[in-house]
Order: sequence, then structure tokens, then C-alpha cells
Amino acid sequence: MTNYTWSYSSIDLFKQCPYKYYRLRVVKDIVEPPTDAIMYGKDLHKAAEDYVRDGTPIPNKYDFIKPTLDRLLAIEGEKLCEYKMGLRYDLSACGFFDKDVWWRGVADLVIVKDDKAYVLDYKTGKTAKYATKDQLEILSLAVFKHFPQVKRVKAGLLFVVSKDFVKANYDEDYQSSGWSKWVERTKELEGAIKNNVWIKKPNFTCRKFCKIIDCEHNGRAH
Ligand code: SF4
Repeated sequence: MTNYTWSYSSIDLFKQCPYKYYRLRVVKDIVEPPTDAIMYGKDLHKAAEDYVRDGTPIPNKYDFIKPTLDRLLAIEGEKLCEYKMGLRYDLSACGFFDKDVWWRGVADLVIVKDDKAYVLDYKTGKTAKYATKDQLEILSLAVFKHFPQVKRVKAGLLFVVSKDFVKANYDEDYQSSGWSKWVERTKELEGAIKNNVWIKKPNFTCRKFCKIIDCEHNGRAH
């Protein structure tokens, strides 16, 4: 079944509430406007990308990320900024925009040196308290597919504001057990698509954050 594509954020949304996923990603009758935090994050990511890739000076307002980026630049290896990866349904590597792409992911920075790779994602949130390693895991699993010579991936979420660093290491033999969780999640999504059944799953976003105002669980609807 390949009549859908997914990413870390879309499967995460589906896991949180299938009905919210359905409205935002399938019907698309509700568009979430970008928040100030999202706009700030995009701007900072662009500054980091331009600096690491081209040496473009970092705007003064983001000076605080320079020491972190300089440490990354000092790591030996080919630096790939905003690196787009795609995987087919059989988990083989493909291009991000290929017709048969099934999974899509973008790593803020991949550094490849022989049989080692680093996968880094910049985070602009104020705290790493609620961070999970799921995003690192899926990006690292994709790196093994895109760079078959890589035997070990060191991955990290770099909280550039709070200076927290959430890290995880993966060896190539982690792949089969690593994929099982993601395949299971996509099977649930496939089941929802096939049966056109999208359950409402109340969660912490219902009260204040969810944009599906007409849902009976939405705290702003009643
Ligand atoms: S209000 Fe809650 S249950 Fe309803 S769609 Fe939003 S997240 Fe899902």
C-alpha cells in the first residue's frame, strides 16, 4: 500500500489523534497558521544552514548559536545541510521528491566520514524536558539506507537556546528492531485510511491548542 506518504511529524500527529490528522492532513479543511515560535525557528534554522554551508555571517540576533555551530564545523567529514531523504515502501533509499517515495525526512545537518555519520537537528524550544529521541531514530535509520557504508550514527537534538543536548547512538545492526516500531505505526495509519475510520483521541492539546474547534473534546468549543 503506497497511496500515502508520511514523515516523523505526520505519524506523530496521527498517533496523538487520528481525527486531528484526518482534518489537517487528509481533508485539509483547517489550516494551522504558523505561530511566532515556528517563524522564529525557521529563521534561525536558515541562519544556521547558511553559516554551516556557505560561511554566511550569522545575524547578530542569533550570535548565541555560533559557538555550537563552530563545534559542528570542526567535526571532520562531509557536511550536508538541510539534507532531504526519501525511502520507498520496501525501505530502499530514494529521492525526497520521487514518485514512489513513501517516507520523507529532512535532517538539519548530516556529517559523513567513512563509516560514521552524525545526524543533528536544531531545536529552538526553551527546554529539552519533553524531547523524545524518536525523530533522531527515524532520521538515523534513513541515514543507514542512504549511506550504506555507514556503520554507526551519532545523533543529537541540539537545543540551541537552552544549550541542552539530547543524544542517541545507533549501530547498523539496530535497523531491524528500530524499524519495527515505525512499521507498526504505519500499519495503524493504513488501517485508518483503508477503513476510513478516524478516531478522536482526547489528549493534552484538546483544551487550548487543537484547531479542530468543532470537535466535542475541544476546550474552546463549549
Ligand atoms: S480536540 Fe482533541 S480529540 Fe478533538 S480533534 Fe482535537 S486533539 Fe483530537
